[in-house]
Amino acid sequence: MKSKLVRRLLSLLACFIVAVFAKIAFAGAEPLRVFVSVLPQKTIVEQVGGAHVEVRTMVRPGYSPHTYDPMPRQISALSRTALFVRSGVPFEDSWVERIRAANPNMQVLDARQGIDLRPVEGHRDYGDGGDHSGGGLEAGQHHGDQSHAGRDPHIWTSPPLVLQMAANIRDKLAELDPVHKKDYDRNYDAFATELKTLDEDIRMLLNDLPNRTFMVFHPAWGYFADTYGLIQVPIEKEGKEPGARALVALIEQAKREGVRAIFVQPQFSVHSAAQVARAIDGRVIPIDPLSADYANNLRAVARQIAEAARE
Ligand code: ZN
Repeated sequence: MKSKLVRRLLSLLACFIVAVFAKIAFAGAEPLRVFVSVLPQKTIVEQVGGAHVEVRTMVRPGYSPHTYDPMPRQISALSRTALFVRSGVPFEDSWVERIRAANPNMQVLDARQGIDLRPVEGHRDYGDGGDHSGGGLEAGQHHGDQSHAGRDPHIWTSPPLVLQMAANIRDKLAELDPVHKKDYDRNYDAFATELKTLDEDIRMLLNDLPNRTFMVFHPAWGYFADTYGLIQVPIEKEGKEPGARALVALIEQAKREGVRAIFVQPQFSVHSAAQVARAIDGRVIPIDPLSADYANNLRAVARQIAEAARE
């Protein structure tokens, strides 16, 4: 009788121990769920987080982060998310409160910490107006976040700034998941080495260009230009296609400065870029600031800017 009770107690204890160990093992294997705004940032979080993170991107391929409206199922997925990493792209300004409200337990990291934001060329208050087909914002509509108004949100186009963002992400992941701190440190170091090589490669590609001015439709390459001593001239004005007079001035500027190519990106219209290109007998060249293949894409962009400058 007594031994039966002991056996039963022992088997209960065994079940309990198995359950506890299973829970620990499960918790250790379960990746941290992270949401980011744009694809290049997914790459950064994955580089630092490795197997310990599962990253989703809010702005879907082909859409503009200036005017994006998250889908209801994306907002509901936030309830199972530990961390939202924002980068300052304009759609966040109108959505960040709803994003926070979707999951009060979710942490929100601003990856811009420690980064000096540059103003956008020719924009009084950029980031409020959307211009663009993917968008739900009306031009001129105004949002909060005044301290960042008129600041360029495309930080990730500069590898040294990506390194700073990666450090911010490393520290936040280590805070949320201290068990894997060493892995985050190690992954960050490896990524830092990769970014250093990328930076050197780009410097080499853009060395000794006969012309350091390049023309783009949407000014997504300002931090890239600042980092590598280039001058970005945007065709877009205040987030919209330029008017007839502005277009004529741009064509004159392109001729004066020996611009041979106009760079466009897939998320935006190529209409006025093509008009300028025709007028200068130049080319329209697509480059994508939102590629997930961060390093190779940036090398390709540098190569294309260099080729156009040497034409
Ligand atoms: Zn943009």
